Amino acid sequence: MSERSSVGQVRAWLSARRRFQFVLTVAMVMLLTGTCVGLLMVPNPVLPKLRAAQQSRAESLGQVAAADDDPRLAQVRRTVEPFGQLVTRVVPTGAGQESLIVGHPDQRIEIDVLARELGAATTAVTDLWGPDWAQSALVVVASAPAEFATLLRATTDLPAEVAAASIADPFAPGTRPAAQRVVFSPDAGRRLSPDGLRTLLRHELTHVATRAQTVDGAPPWMLEGFAEYLAHRGQDHRFGDIAPTVTTRARTGELPADLPAAAAFTGKPAVLAYEQAWTICAFVADKYDEPHLVDLYRRIAASTQDPASEDRILQEVLHTTRAEFIADWRAWLSPRAA
Ligand SMILES: [Zn+2]
Repeated sequence: MSERSSVGQVRAWLSARRRFQFVLTVAMVMLLTGTCVGLLMVPNPVLPKLRAAQQSRAESLGQVAAADDDPRLAQVRRTVEPFGQLVTRVVPTGAGQESLIVGHPDQRIEIDVLARELGAATTAVTDLWGPDWAQSALVVVASAPAEFATLLRATTDLPAEVAAASIADPFAPGTRPAAQRVVFSPDAGRRLSPDGLRTLLRHELTHVATRAQTVDGAPPWMLEGFAEYLAHRGQDHRFGDIAPTVTTRARTGELPADLPAAAAFTGKPAVLAYEQAWTICAFVADKYDEPHLVDLYRRIAASTQDPASEDRILQEVLHTTRAEFIADWRAWLSPRAA
């Protein structure tokens, strides 16, 4: 094999892998102990270790104050300390707030990547959603499956495909959740590139920001679609990379007949459902504008919905019927998937 063809093969492999990683950035909602948890699905196939690449790209952030007096650290300390020595990063985020990243020394690379990304991720969320949220977060990188599960209050280990989740303590309607955290799985950093970690962080941070306006049981096409839309916004990701399954199907004339139902967001159909949800939000932002997308989120996420109530909200926010909305979305999808 000549060096040139070898390089070509590596390039092709990298390109295929990059495409695959966008497929990985697909999330699902699960109900764990009554709390809405956004989860990101990562397929199981063995992916090459990305630690070396991350090592070279991760900037050393140096020693940062241990934030020992931060109540959020006290909250997770009891859970994470049994799993080893703590590494803590304090990152300035929006509106003079500080965010906290907590993990263990063996996850230092992921911690540094996330520390580097958290400020921009917070800004990205505020840029679309507005400043009415904490604009800071507690991010924890688990180093063991048992630690990951405990941080999410799950009673058993989570499926290996789950790369990250966000969780909130119960809170009264009309108030902000007092405690929320984003938790990354032990092998998220091995399975995702820094770009994938960034997208995943923004997705979960969107759930954190919107939690106070989001009701458990609200349609996941809106919740997950919006988180995906914000996660990919301004990142120069291509349509076919964000929604490869939708693209492949649309090329054979197979367009979604309806908004994806809640049941489609779990198990095998979840990959397609999350991609469709992203396309719905991208369609709204494109045909109307982003303020209309945010308005739609606030109305749809505020309660559980059925087709009649969705129809009412679509008429009030976008002056269209549910049937027309779906028809317009399908028409919008076709040329983009070509
Ligand atoms: Zn999610």
